[in-house]
Amino acid sequence: SFQELEKILNQIDGKGYKAYKELQGQYQWSNFTLSIDYVQGDPFASPSRIRVIVPGEKGGFPSELYNTPYKRRAVIDFLSRTVAKNISRIYHHVGGSGKSGLISIGYCGQEILERNYIVIDQNRVEARLEVGLPAAGRRILGKEAKYIFLVAIPKIVETSLFFNAISKESLFSQVKLVEDQYFLRQELKRRKLVAFVANGSILPRESGVSQRPMVKGAVPFQSPKEYEIEIQLPNYGPIKGMGLPQGVTLIVGGGFHGKSTLLQALELGVYDHILGDGREYLVTRENAVKIKAENGRYVEKVNISPFINNLPMGQDTVRFSTENASGSTSQAANIMEALEIGTDLLLIDEDTSATNFMIRDGRMQQLVQKEKEPITPFIDRVRTLYEEKGVSTVLVIGGSGDYFEVADHIIMMDEYTPRDVTQRAQEIIKGIQNPRKIEAVSTVQENPPRILLKSTFSMGKRGVKIKPRGIHQITFNKTDIDLRDLEQLIDPNQTNTICFMLQYIMERVVNDKMALKEVVEKVYKDVIEKGLDVVSPYKGHPGNMALPRKYEIACTLNRFRNLKIK
Ligand code: ADP
Ligand code: MG
Repeated sequence: SFQELEKILNQIDGKGYKAYKELQGQYQWSNFTLSIDYVQGDPFASPSRIRVIVPGEKGGFPSELYNTPYKRRAVIDFLSRTVAKNISRIYHHVGGSGKSGLISIGYCGQEILERNYIVIDQNRVEARLEVGLPAAGRRILGKEAKYIFLVAIPKIVETSLFFNAISKESLFSQVKLVEDQYFLRQELKRRKLVAFVANGSILPRESGVSQRPMVKGAVPFQSPKEYEIEIQLPNYGPIKGMGLPQGVTLIVGGGFHGKSTLLQALELGVYDHILGDGREYLVTRENAVKIKAENGRYVEKVNISPFINNLPMGQDTVRFSTENASGSTSQAANIMEALEIGTDLLLIDEDTSATNFMIRDGRMQQLVQKEKEPITPFIDRVRTLYEEKGVSTVLVIGGSGDYFEVADHIIMMDEYTPRDVTQRAQEIIKGIQNPRKIEAVSTVQENPPRILLKSTFSMGKRGVKIKPRGIHQITFNKTDIDLRDLEQLIDPNQTNTICFMLQYIMERVVNDKMALKEVVEKVYKDVIEKGLDVVSPYKGHPGNMALPRKYEIACTLNRFRNLKIK
């Protein structure tokens, strides 16, 4: 009981930090259980992990709120944010050395992701928290610890984990919002669209380092008449906006008119967004992939031959490997790896592409013969990708009209507002003879299965240590995995989950027989069926996780400089 906890805290007050280990265990309070699962070794180490568990009947959440995966996701996300808000509202942070006095729950940004910070089912509502056990230097501050466990945490539990204590209205509106976004994404497939952007959406962000909406001076999105459709949402009702059809779509327009902003919004439309984000009713096919040039990346046995062939010195491009890819080879590898996992929408921006990968105009064709140019530019592949593989492309390009000939739809951004210019561009093509010749008609051969080898995960003397460093970097023992260019990886706990998944793959999945794609699918399937916790190496509080897409898991393996493919 809590009396025991209080007794221990009285006893260890003023002692060395290690005495905190005695706290490990479970304590009963009138309406919840406190489980101290892991006690940190010193005040500067990662904080201690605890859980608070309210019995289901006491919590009182109706099961209709969590009886489908997307509703459960919405509720878990909502309660996580509620806990975070109540911590900052109620708790007066106690001081001390290192992480002393910290109380937190996993991070929630603008997206409503599948998370494990809360568990909700018939039997319980459970929140997973981190606590920095307070100390002065390395001496235990017992009084402060008592305030945390006996006062602050019970208050946080009372105000956050009981149905009658929280804002039902906000909870329901989040569940409804997710239901609508879920419906919209299904609707894309039914209507053969790749994206939907509701009128009134706010696309620009506050700044380059913030995902919050721009507050002042944002021009709300307004669909061109030619693409405007109306969709009946289950909760919101009828909504109008731009339905972007499958095929090859160009976004053209002068510099600074909002092209990249639109594309970036589409990239993140693979996720659901919270109320007030400005992108609540902007959805993209969930397997859409941003493709960039990524100078210097590692590539292991990828078939880039549809784009690059006849390299100097007879280098193999069917099983192409390099420690240091060029702009164009990296972009080719990125596309082929995306196809391998099964994307049906590529999102490409000229700002982050290799020029020689994207274009090769008529004059250059005359000067440099095809035999002397290993690159088959994207312009000569983009139609085949759609017509043979059903893979659509949305391409931002302000600098080359050659693409008019291969596009189904052309949209011009004009002072942040899209206009349909497809017809006008067609007329221009007719009027001017283009000396450019199409250079490839053959099909795009995909990667043969790439068998992932166990030797990828070679261990150091002390086993393996896989650690996230923010969102965009992982260290595997001493090897860095650079994820800087994965714009659709957006939450530090997605990265944490990928770390756990790498360990899970290494220990439980890889067998020298499965292809990289199959390995990724296996771990993903396990997580979908059994929950995120299945990949955690910890007992009790499993560590904070948010679900990444399959694609980002594959991307991590593909960028791992120890990756070995048979
Ligand atoms: P482009 O790619 O066409 O050069 P960007 O998308 O980079 O243009 O946008 C240029 C600037 O305009 C950015 O600072 C962006 O935040 C701002 N911006 C984009 N869309 C809007 C909008 N709808 N309302 C207000 N500002 C916008
Ligand atoms: Mg741009």
